[in-house]
Amino acid sequence: MTVLELSEVRKTYPGVPPVESVRGVTLTVDAGDMLAVRGPSGSGKSTLLHLMAALDRPTSGSVRLDGQAVEALSDRALAGLRAHRVGVVFQQFHLLESLTALDNVATGLIYRGVPARARRAAAAEALDRVGLAHRGGHRVTKLSGGERQRVAIARALVGRPAIVFADEPTGNLDSTTGAGILDLIRELNADGTTFVVVTHEEAVSDACHRTVVMHDGRLADDGQAARC
Ligand code: ADP
Ligand code: MG
Repeated sequence: MTVLELSEVRKTYPGVPPVESVRGVTLTVDAGDMLAVRGPSGSGKSTLLHLMAALDRPTSGSVRLDGQAVEALSDRALAGLRAHRVGVVFQQFHLLESLTALDNVATGLIYRGVPARARRAAAAEALDRVGLAHRGGHRVTKLSGGERQRVAIARALVGRPAIVFADEPTGNLDSTTGAGILDLIRELNADGTTFVVVTHEEAVSDACHRTVVMHDGRLADDGQAARC
């Protein structure tokens, strides 16, 4: 089953001259996939991730996410699609420092109208999946970088999205801690979560089933041959 389908997707930022960050990307992600998008800094990976995760609309081309054409949706429908079907993990974690680990994970359900009690129960379960059941009551400021990234992954997973995107998820971590995060992502993928991981690191893309390489806003290799 196809979860994500990009066809000739372009993103141009206005300016003099305009910046063509993504220049005609065609790509398919199937349920259960673990795809790496690798490329040097400035090649357009984060821009592409924003388009794939429906955080932004393409300038032209089409993005079908979970069967819906992103470019045709209203703002409201787009927000609903993101809240229900997409999880995102960032390099900088983007956690709320005043909250506990558990409450940070529970915020992943806030736009779904899930009652507070059910949010907390689901958050506890998601923290358990990332190996942090014992840390739920800790403020995130008390957690290590690796633990913070686990909390962010739990927040992405808590609503059981169709697909999870991670932008340089190990970029702020030392190599041992980063390897632990990759192992976790691999385990979650083996349990059925579809992942797209954006990275400039070869070690990260080596952990994925399939890699596509970006250069100057285009894919150099569709990675189909590398699928295992
Ligand atoms: P990567 O994640 O591979 O480092 P990005 O997608 O962040 O690449 O950036 C690709 C190009 O698009 C860069 O030249 C960057 O400066 C430009 N860019 C990214 N976001 C914006 C924006 N909001 N406005 C203008 N230019 C942007
Ligand atoms: Mg980037």
